[in-house]
Amino acid sequence: MARYHEENKEIILQKAYAYNKEIGEKMRSEPLGDVVQHYYDLIEKITKESGMNDTITCGAGCGFCCHAEIPVNSFEAIYLKEVVSGLDIDEDALFIQLKADDYNSLDFKKRRCTLLDNDDKCRIYKNRPLVCRSHNSIDLKDYCNRVKYPTRKLNRAYNIDIEAIQMAFAMVSNNGSTELHKIL
Ligand code: SF4
Repeated sequence: MARYHEENKEIILQKAYAYNKEIGEKMRSEPLGDVVQHYYDLIEKITKESGMNDTITCGAGCGFCCHAEIPVNSFEAIYLKEVVSGLDIDEDALFIQLKADDYNSLDFKKRRCTLLDNDDKCRIYKNRPLVCRSHNSIDLKDYCNRVKYPTRKLNRAYNIDIEAIQMAFAMVSNNGSTELHKIL
């Protein structure tokens, strides 16, 4: 695991160009959903094999970071639309989110991702977006409590390859992005 410092910027960029090329090639020969899921799975593998899991304090059923606007790149948006089709979504909660001028200024409860289940577990965990995979806290678990600590900045685990994959997707989708709640 590498912490994000200025000196990593150049190496992240170089890796991002390499991933960008690889993603572009895959997109030409494989279904879009398979390509996106491949990188989701790769991030999972990196997280396990890099030792990040030893320092990450996130756990199933926490869900505090699932109370924020979630950006998804344009490829993920297409794939995730398919993934969520058929799921029951709380239309009233979603309506409030869609009507909000500023999602992140909604009350905590109203910001809750409609993909969480009653136990605060993600209903699309295996297919969750890049950003949901890359924001892993290494702070005390209690600090994630956004009601108790609404503005506390959390220290999170960084990995150069994971940063580079995210950057590569931003490049290959020409920075096209939307927010998760808008595709539900
Ligand atoms: S998609 Fe899943 S992990 Fe991401 S914010 Fe929603 S419930 Fe949380």
